[in-house]
Amino acid sequence: MKVHLIVNPTAGRGGAGRRLALLEELLQRMDIPYCLECTSYPDEATVLARRAAEAGTPIIAAAGGDGTVAEVLNGLAGTDGTLAIIPMGTGNDLARGLGIPLELSGAVALLKEGQRARMDLLQEASRFLGGAGAVGIACQVIENVERNRDSFIKGPPAFLIAALKTILEHQPYSVKIEMDGLTLQEEVVGVFVMNSPYIAGGMHLAPTAHLADGLFEVVLVERMTKPEILLNLPKVYWGGHLGHPAVRVYQTQWVRITLPTPTMKILDGELVPSTPLEARLLPGALSVLVTKEAAAHLARGRSDQAIDN
Ligand SMILES: [Mg+2]
Repeated sequence: MKVHLIVNPTAGRGGAGRRLALLEELLQRMDIPYCLECTSYPDEATVLARRAAEAGTPIIAAAGGDGTVAEVLNGLAGTDGTLAIIPMGTGNDLARGLGIPLELSGAVALLKEGQRARMDLLQEASRFLGGAGAVGIACQVIENVERNRDSFIKGPPAFLIAALKTILEHQPYSVKIEMDGLTLQEEVVGVFVMNSPYIAGGMHLAPTAHLADGLFEVVLVERMTKPEILLNLPKVYWGGHLGHPAVRVYQTQWVRITLPTPTMKILDGELVPSTPLEARLLPGALSVLVTKEAAAHLARGRSDQAIDN
């Protein structure tokens, strides 16, 4: 089946562009029929993805990071196109959540051997989200990652360093969280809206989040001291934070998070103005190309264990 690849050469701090020749070599060696376009400005991937899907291309592959994936899925929502992911970014969190191989040849092989499955999306105003949204501390983490974009430290360590820096500067804030049948008023460090289990380059923030169970998770981190946050942050990588009394997880199909003063919010890794963050679940709204195991996992729904990566 023909694949239309949309490559963001700037993803992974230019790593995607540098590996473009290798990507094409793999496609040719595996005998995968393809066409390829590179993006050159923000949101172009949305336009290219929609055009390809409307032209009847069955599989549209986002080659880049979570930002590229987000742009492509926004182009594909409501079409018959299937999203494939070639993880080449800094975070690759949706690929991780879908069990897509993070190394290049495994991800390319999936274009040939993968199976289609349906995953849920979130809708936030006119945007669609595949991975996660957040307000609070996560926004400052992203700001710090952006500020250090030219640093020699790349990938998940970049997020960890930004997170540590952010914690030292961060103040808790008050927030109103409305969900299906529940309203909370809290002092928090952060609130996360998780469709996928991973955020910030592999932090396993919502281990029980399932990408096709018709629900998403709201993870709330109540006020903690700075030493407590520092002590508990590494636990997020293996899900050990869930035992902490300040961490609460809710399941819902709708949420509205309001701050006393509007602030930036994160939607699939991108900082955008501004709160409230209001998201609702669109069950099975997107077709994705995944491994046989992941397709079975998505089809079975919530009763299942998370996908191992
Ligand atoms: Mg879910």
